[in-house]
Amino acid sequence: MVGQVTTHLGIDIGGMSLKAHLIDRTGKIYRSATVPTVADWSNSEFLNGITEILKQFSDESYTSVGVGTPGPVDFEKGFILRSANLKNLDNCPVVPHIQSLTSVPVYFNNDANCASLGEYYFGAGKGSEDLIVLTLGTGLGVGWVHKGKLYNGHLGNGMEAGHQTIVLNGALCGCGSRGCAEAYFSTRGLLGRYREKTGKDLTNAKDFFDLVRSKDVPAVETLEFATEVLAHLLKNLVHSINPDRIVLVGGLTNSSDLYLDRLKHILKENAFPVLWEHLRLEVSSVGAGILGAAALGFKEEV
Ligand SMILES: [Zn+2]
Repeated sequence: MVGQVTTHLGIDIGGMSLKAHLIDRTGKIYRSATVPTVADWSNSEFLNGITEILKQFSDESYTSVGVGTPGPVDFEKGFILRSANLKNLDNCPVVPHIQSLTSVPVYFNNDANCASLGEYYFGAGKGSEDLIVLTLGTGLGVGWVHKGKLYNGHLGNGMEAGHQTIVLNGALCGCGSRGCAEAYFSTRGLLGRYREKTGKDLTNAKDFFDLVRSKDVPAVETLEFATEVLAHLLKNLVHSINPDRIVLVGGLTNSSDLYLDRLKHILKENAFPVLWEHLRLEVSSVGAGILGAAALGFKEEV
């Protein structure tokens, strides 16, 4: 038991597992739990997994539950519409299910938005008035925290900026459109574009970046073009939102020494100086995004 401290429970729905953290307003973690997921889980098996992880906190008195999930989601109903990793999920009523098990408010958002909130409260985004967070992983997620509030758009699907078209008639993206930023600067994008050049299938981003480090020409060219695409996505965001800070998070930032300087250089060359001069662009090293789902409940206290 945590005692008198107000705590919030966050559940992250990942590709391999459900992870939960019980935290307070400062980001202190009181308890964590993990339930492995199975790729062919049905809706009901998945919801049993959610029940299982909640049971591990049954002796705690938290004030809210936040859920972070890869999209697409129905924000209003609290449904996961589909999942790239849990392929059998179909209109899965995750929030109504949790709400049937607890009397505290349940909040729901996509994982990139949760990561943004985590960085805002506990990470490299602290103190920012207009914070943009890019999650560079399997896909390319973007979140915007405006004066302490997550921007969700009309029905909660705002800031799907990874699917901005950067290259007209460009590479096919997982979303079905062509030329999205995600089709270039994401694990899927980098490996896909490398395969187009070489016919070779790489299994993960580390193998790709190892090739870049060994000066493999197709890998270097793939990363250079992807960096240009990412810089233009940032330019679009900078010109639309005028953020004071951009934070990069996610697995691909482990190799940011290979592209960060060039990314900044291209952005600087292309963005209006007035928008660039006061902007901080950095990589987060603290991984605060994992606490963002729990932080969805903080808004009730502000
Ligand atoms: Zn797309």
